[in-house]
Amino acid sequence: MKSDASPEVIRQLAESLRWYVTSLKESGVTELPGSLRPTTHAVPVVTQNKQPVNPPVPMPTAQVEVPMISAQSSDLFSATKLDKVHSLQELRAEIGDCRRCKLCQGRTNIVFGVGDPKAELMFVGEGPGRDEDLKGEPFVGRAGQLLTEIITKGMKMRRDEVYIANVVKCRPPENRNPESDEITACQPFLIKQVELVKPRIIVALGTFAAQTLLQTKTPISRLRGVWHSYQGVKLMPTLHPAYLLRNPNDKRLVWQDIQAVLRELGRL
Ligand code: URA
Repeated sequence: MKSDASPEVIRQLAESLRWYVTSLKESGVTELPGSLRPTTHAVPVVTQNKQPVNPPVPMPTAQVEVPMISAQSSDLFSATKLDKVHSLQELRAEIGDCRRCKLCQGRTNIVFGVGDPKAELMFVGEGPGRDEDLKGEPFVGRAGQLLTEIITKGMKMRRDEVYIANVVKCRPPENRNPESDEITACQPFLIKQVELVKPRIIVALGTFAAQTLLQTKTPISRLRGVWHSYQGVKLMPTLHPAYLLRNPNDKRLVWQDIQAVLRELGRL
């Protein structure tokens, strides 16, 4: 097959593929089912509530109860106040020692978000776990280490080049899913973070983040690999790194998703 990709692009792709295969081996995967065919065609954009055109990928997925919350359901007063917020520092100050929902009772630190305030690429997870709660930084535990590898080794980007945040900023007890009142309380802050950072692309990590941001109950197996839109920004749902730790064979799906993201960013 003739390719018009530059040697640099091919080198990067090869390095990325090498990382992917090494990480599979490290996870104990010894063989792959069938051939590995990264998508070479343009990934179609679908908007909220439209069925993605990609065939469903069979995968055991936990169907989570996703509270349906619209942007309009956010608190009028906080929305009004956030109009006067023009930077991430001001937004963090506005959140203060937040008592807007019951998650404040069990948290150690508010996990606001980290990274380049002008990042082209933003990752959104579900909510802080134990390690994140203790450190006050998103994705620093085992799943976080895998996310960092995906960014640095899979995407050849620095972790501080992207922006990382969560749907909720405080750790839910026993790592349960955030509840609708908690998401409603926190939602204006995530929306404002997106507005301030202005990423070109958002990657939603896992079932909960993807279903919450897209206001759908469609399983992640059907959402991932297809472009969606959140607050006017292109959004690619993918599998959560914590899921990948338990199901390393599915790393190939995340690899496909990040290739689509890199192509969209013009980095492939
Ligand atoms: N899982 C998430 O969804 N977010 C984090 O910050 C850490 C783990």
